[in-house]
Amino acid sequence: MFGLMQDRPLLIQQLIEHAALNHGDTEIVSRTLEGGIHRYTYRDARLRSKKVAEALQSLGIKAGDRIGTLAWNGYRHFELYYGISGMGAVCHTINPRLFPEQIVYIVNHAEDQLLFVDLNLLPAVEKLLPQFKTVRHVVAMTDRDHLPKGLNIPNLLVYEDLLADKPGTYEWPEFDERTASSLCYTSGTTGNPKGVLYSHRSTILHAYGAALPDTLGLSARATVLPVVPMFHVNAWGLPYSAPMVGAKLVFPGVALDGASLYELFEKEEVVFTAGVPTVWLALLQYMQANKLKLSTVKYAVIGGSAAPPAMIETFDRDYGVEVLHAWGMSEMSPLGTVNHPKSKHLKLSHKEQLDIRLKQGRPPYGVEMKIVDGDGKELPHDGKAFGDLLVRGPWITSGYFKGEGGDVLEEGGWFPTGDVATIDADGYMQITDRSKDVIKSGGEWISSIDLENAAMAHPAVAEAAVIGVFHPKWDERPLLIIHKKEGATLEKDELIDFLSAKVAKWWLPDDVQFVDAIPHTATGKILKTRLRDDFKNYKLP
Ligand code: ADP
Repeated sequence: MFGLMQDRPLLIQQLIEHAALNHGDTEIVSRTLEGGIHRYTYRDARLRSKKVAEALQSLGIKAGDRIGTLAWNGYRHFELYYGISGMGAVCHTINPRLFPEQIVYIVNHAEDQLLFVDLNLLPAVEKLLPQFKTVRHVVAMTDRDHLPKGLNIPNLLVYEDLLADKPGTYEWPEFDERTASSLCYTSGTTGNPKGVLYSHRSTILHAYGAALPDTLGLSARATVLPVVPMFHVNAWGLPYSAPMVGAKLVFPGVALDGASLYELFEKEEVVFTAGVPTVWLALLQYMQANKLKLSTVKYAVIGGSAAPPAMIETFDRDYGVEVLHAWGMSEMSPLGTVNHPKSKHLKLSHKEQLDIRLKQGRPPYGVEMKIVDGDGKELPHDGKAFGDLLVRGPWITSGYFKGEGGDVLEEGGWFPTGDVATIDADGYMQITDRSKDVIKSGGEWISSIDLENAAMAHPAVAEAAVIGVFHPKWDERPLLIIHKKEGATLEKDELIDFLSAKVAKWWLPDDVQFVDAIPHTATGKILKTRLRDDFKNYKLP
């Protein structure tokens, strides 16, 4: 027997309707590319999202068409999220930091019909345009006054012109909640990028899960600044969760340096923020150099790469900011786990609490996790056994766009994450490493993340990376690569001494190499493939 409750579809356009009706005067604040700050409300955003849908219709866009965006975090990008998905098309966010050939591949693979492009990215698009096979129009995300002169982009349209004559009376259609809503390609450090195709249903369920108190804990009293870009897994779902609960949104535009972020945090009284470790490194250095404090920020989500313990401690001790360590991936919309203590942990010592906070956290309801050994046998949740991490749930992918890479799910519908992890009896998961980054020394595994974290605690270290290099006896041994803080002095022996108090003797790196900069991926992670390439001919001493 079925229940008798209403079977209303879960649709993204309902979020902006809900926010406009119940939080109509709540602000969305954006640092614009034209210069200056733009402010309006959820009510305004709904009106303009409808105008976007009307504009798309007038350009002949139909349900299911893919519409590309190359844009930073700002109000127009937010309107596109709702206007595109809300009319049944697919909002395809593209990471502008990818290599040009990857952008070309992605646009053609997705068969994008239109490309909405932020001001400073128009010159790059101008160069690539001849290689785009399906793009009918590029739309400059600005008004006519700010349009750069002399661009050679045939059929170029201007965003504000497109919206100007639209009535904004669009009636959102209702359709199956499993309809595709947005598309995001994983950076694909090896091989071609693969498209993860989200649905309305998966996006709404993820937004619910993300807003829960022990996930991101958002509310109508929060002011949220996503530093994580809207092209990096939909800014971790914040542009959906914030209107769901009526939180004020602050968008930083293209200015992600310490000074610009600090200014917005203070002026807009931001409470909640989220980003990858590299942006926090820059912010912390800026605040330390200028002896600044944060007056309103209470929570910072750190994810995308492991949050170094030294960073968690500095935020807590010096700035009164609670770090929410989070783990996820594009294939998971992205949230998999977030770290919050349970009440029994509050009685523990500072050190014991920190040990728990270093873990990547617990899954909200909606994410199932298990770890397995090489034969696929399930391992115990004892916080010690580590193995391949598999996940399952309604906001986790079942396969890549256009069947790329074939069937990805394992028996029972489990998705292999490519991460190696432990899970403890309280449900806390800790990433040991990405399976391709773990260092296999004499049949035993060394976690590159643990070594990096230990090295990052040294005051002279700005950033640390560990890769495995060939060793005739042990197969692989760890090589530690260090980018020193400006003006700091540090020698290999001093650093190895420092590490010997923190890690097992056989984990100690065989050598330390100092470099001017550590390369990063388009989403701000350490680019280990490049480091492995750079040190291809390197021989251990
Ligand atoms: P990309 O940003 O490179 O396109 P994803 O964002 O999907 O790809 O990357 C997901 C991977 O990032 C995870 O599988 C994991 O290896 C790593 N990751 C994410 N968050 C964390 C974290 N908190 N700690 C350690 N690794 C993390």
